Amino acid sequence: MKVEFYRHSLTEEDIHAAAEAMRGVFISTGKLVGEFERRLASYTGNAHAVGLMSGSHALFLALKAHGIGAGDEVITTPMTFVATANAVVHAGATPVFVDVEADTGNMDAARIEAAVTPRTKAILVVHLYGLMCDMKAIRGIASRHNLIVIEDAAHCLEGSRDGVRPGNLSDAACFSFYATKNITSGEGGALVMRDAAKAAAAARMALHGMDRSAAKRFEGKFVHWDVEEPGFKANMTNIHAAMLTSQMARVDSMLSRREEICRRYAEAFSAVKGLAFPRGREGAVHARHLFTLWGDPERRDAVIQGLQDRGVGVTVNYRAVHRLAYYRRQYGYSHDAFPVAGRIGDSTLSLPLYPGLRDEEIAHVVASVKEVLA
Ligand SMILES: *Cc1c(COP(=O)(O)O)cnc(C)c1O
Repeated sequence: MKVEFYRHSLTEEDIHAAAEAMRGVFISTGKLVGEFERRLASYTGNAHAVGLMSGSHALFLALKAHGIGAGDEVITTPMTFVATANAVVHAGATPVFVDVEADTGNMDAARIEAAVTPRTKAILVVHLYGLMCDMKAIRGIASRHNLIVIEDAAHCLEGSRDGVRPGNLSDAACFSFYATKNITSGEGGALVMRDAAKAAAAARMALHGMDRSAAKRFEGKFVHWDVEEPGFKANMTNIHAAMLTSQMARVDSMLSRREEICRRYAEAFSAVKGLAFPRGREGAVHARHLFTLWGDPERRDAVIQGLQDRGVGVTVNYRAVHRLAYYRRQYGYSHDAFPVAGRIGDSTLSLPLYPGLRDEEIAHVVASVKEVLA
């Protein structure tokens, strides 16, 4: 049996929505993007959303919209996809890592204050695998030190903690709609924000810095535009937006299926010696983006090989960022600078998790893991 690591869950309705968008006059940014932005903002309980080309653009523009650049430090986590830290580097600032909680892999809020310096401008948190960080605690720390808070919520569209959703307590939350994310347009991303002026600034910077959006230009008669500050090019298209709005209608039912799969994995593996998996937190709705197993680092790569030999697609999310060549070289991080993140990165592997995963495939994954470990 072959079990893909990921298969998207796009339906005939999603395909129809994209086709309808292509039949319209405006296939780039237009009304359908506005519709998706309103949907995303209301789903997450935020005033504004900006549709973009990727989650990486969302992170970068969130930093730029808050004036973060050369000479600034941004506190973030080494246990994430490299896009998080790369965005800080591209904004011209310095990523300053703090280690993570051993049982969740999320940035350890208790370690943040020790990393604050006079140059610190922002805290960039990542809701790893779909479990939200303690945003109330992080907001408190940020307020004490007058720092911006940005959330990398690429894994956490559906998540919440103590009733707080991404964007509700921060300056910006960033989503990705990359091929394997919980909803997808192949590539895509968005920002949600509470501040209208900052959201407008991010939207402007996503379109060369032009003072009227291309969509607005298309809607009415020709108007001249100006550029106060050169921006980038990262605006979402109507085609992407149509696919995403269509998926929003079943975002919660897709989450229910992933929750069910995670329950089965957890039941199957909780008694297996030498295996652990990340814990949840009281009061949190976990967005269930990834299911990872944490095992013996010495055997991890052999286990991956064994699972692949049995037709099970697996991957690693993630090797710790401070151990990647550029980050080691540029910032002089030692191998064990962040030992908890380092250990997770050495011991972790991710199993297939998506709504279309069939019961017999789940059974095959479970049996294969047990066989390979035995
Ligand atoms: C996917 C992902 C991103 C980047 O999103 P793209 O849309 O691929 O640019 C950023 N951070 C995390 C944690 C991710 O998983």
